[in-house]
Order: sequence, then C-alpha cells, then structure tokens
Amino acid sequence: MAQADKKKPGKLLVVSGPSGSGKSTLCRLAVQKTAAQLSISATTRPRSDQEVHNQDYFFLTEVEFQQRIDADQFLEFANVFGNYYGTPIEPVEKCLEQGLTVILEIDVQGATQVFSKNAQAIGILILPPSDEELKRRLCNRKRDSQETIEKRLAEAKNEIEIARQSGRFKHTIVNDNLEEALQKLVDIINQGQPQ
Ligand code: 5GP
Repeated sequence: MAQADKKKPGKLLVVSGPSGSGKSTLCRLAVQKTAAQLSISATTRPRSDQEVHNQDYFFLTEVEFQQRIDADQFLEFANVFGNYYGTPIEPVEKCLEQGLTVILEIDVQGATQVFSKNAQAIGILILPPSDEELKRRLCNRKRDSQETIEKRLAEAKNEIEIARQSGRFKHTIVNDNLEEALQKLVDIINQGQPQ
C-alpha cells in the first residue's frame, strides 16, 4: 500500500472510574454526539433484563471466556466483583486502523493493562462528586444487593487511588452535572479532530 493511502491511526481512549460514577451513561451519550466507537466488552456476569446480548455486552459462559483468553483474543481482561470482563482485541484494532476514535469503558485493572501495551492510549478518569453521592447513586439504581453496594463502595476508593498513582489518566472529569461532564468528554474526544 502506498504510504499516502495509509490512514492516521485512531485515538484509543480509556474511560475508567468507580461504578456509580456515571461513566457508562457518559460514554453512551458521547458516542451519539461524536464519531467515536464504543467497544463492546465480553463478560461472564449475568445479563439484566434491560441489557441486550451483542449490544451492551457479549455475555459468555466462563468456559467461552476462558477459550478466548487462551486464544489471545482480549486486549485486556480482569475479574471485577467476581465476574470476568474483557475487551475483544479485533474490533478495536480494526477501528484504530481505519482512523476511528475508540472508547474503552473498563475498570482500572484493565486500563493499566491497556496502558502497558499502548503508549498512546489516553486515560480519562470519571469521578463522582462525593462519597455520599456515590452511595446514593448505587442505591438508587436498584440493581445491586446491599452487599454488592458495600463491596463497590469499598472498591471505589481503591480504584481511584490506583488510577491516580498510575499517572496515566491525563484527564479527570467530576460527574456532578451530567451535561457539563458530557461536554468535557465530547471535547476530549474531538481534540485534534478536524471539525
Ligand atoms: P457492570 O457490570 O456494572 O456493567 O461493570 C462492572 C465494571 O466492569 C465497571 O467498572 C466496568 O467499567 C467494568 N468493565 C466493563 N467492561 C470491561 C472490560 O472489557 N474490561 C474491564 N477490565 N472492565 C470492564
């Protein structure tokens, strides 16, 4: 292929933050407002009634997930709250080759793996405005048991600390006001793109 035909590779954005920070809502809205692609993860966690297979996640059995690990099909994977989550590598690589911006909405353990493989990946940390607000959001979404909520709250502090220590999260967005937080994420996605 002639050099001039080669597209500039797309940007890889890694969005992390504690559950309840609102990162998945922000990412879903941001891809509607931009040309960025949201990577679909695989997981072994059970599908909720609101979720669609192949759209929200690829819902896999543990055996299927392990087969994909063995076949080296994940860019990263991690065990989060007792379930496996992983980013299928092939669609991400294809989009980047086509010059598209790709967003990975993943936990901090996974983000660390991506950063070690891809020096250009840009980290974005989404934070709740306060511990109290995080607890309120987790309780309000009525998805998790009390035990899970407590686990997620304890994990949140740990996750934020690891993210900060990694030094790889170039951007931090405090999700106090959804519209403002969304605009910040959209601006980061569009940075360096022709308008
Ligand atoms: P949930 O079960 O609430 O959808 O996600 C639980 C956690 O798993 C969230 O922090 C979410 O960002 C993370 N997660 C989702 N997909 C992936 C993935 O592909 N890899 C990793 N490492 N974490 C993921």
